[in-house]
This record gives sequence, C-alpha cells and structure tokens, in this order.
Amino acid sequence: MFSRLYSILKLKCPQCRNGNILVGNPYQLKHFNKVNECCPNCQLRFKIEPSFFYGSMYVSYGLGVGISIAIYVILLLLGIAEGVIQNFVIISIFLILLMPYINALSKVIWAGFFFKYDPKNK
Ligand SMILES: [Zn+2]
Repeated sequence: MFSRLYSILKLKCPQCRNGNILVGNPYQLKHFNKVNECCPNCQLRFKIEPSFFYGSMYVSYGLGVGISIAIYVILLLLGIAEGVIQNFVIISIFLILLMPYINALSKVIWAGFFFKYDPKNK
C-alpha cells in the first residue's frame, strides 16, 4: 500500500515502480507534459493507444478540486479565511505553483488504472 503510494508520488512506472514515466522533472519547462514512450526500467509501453493520456485530465480536475478544498479547510483552521476574493487568490496561487506536479501526478494515476504492479519487473 505505502510502496504504491510512494511510487505514485515519486511519479514512477505503475508496473515496476522503478522507472520514470516523465521525461524529466515536472518543473523543467523544457520537458513539460512529456511522457516517455516506454519505461526505462521494464520497457512497458505507456501509450497503449493514441492520446492515451488525455484521460488524465479527469484525474487532474479531481486533484485540483481536492487540493482546493484542502487549502480552504487549512485556511479555515488557521483563521486566515477572511473573504471569498482572498481565499480565491490564495487557492489560485497554490494551484498555479502545483500545476506541473498535479499534471504529472494525474498522468501517473491515470496509467495506474490500466497497468498492474508486477514484482518480476522490479
Ligand atoms: Zn516500469
């Protein structure tokens, strides 16, 4: 359970949990939104059909909403949530800063729906 969560958060291949799905760091704008064709460790082909990762937009939307709610709850608990505009600006800043990671994370979670962990490929 924790190794699966750890591999998702570290943006690793869902089959071997060792190779990187992304070409580079999500915050490197040169490689923004680029996914490796195959896993560098187990050679799993990530794009099983054209535009395979378009479905990750649904996951990205869910992550964005979840993170926005979490930030709002934190603002409420800290007593910082003053007004709607202020909350909107704070949440927007966090979402913009986290956007590259959320985008990458949604691709890894999306791929995890279709590929199962295989310890033989580790
Ligand atoms: Zn792999």
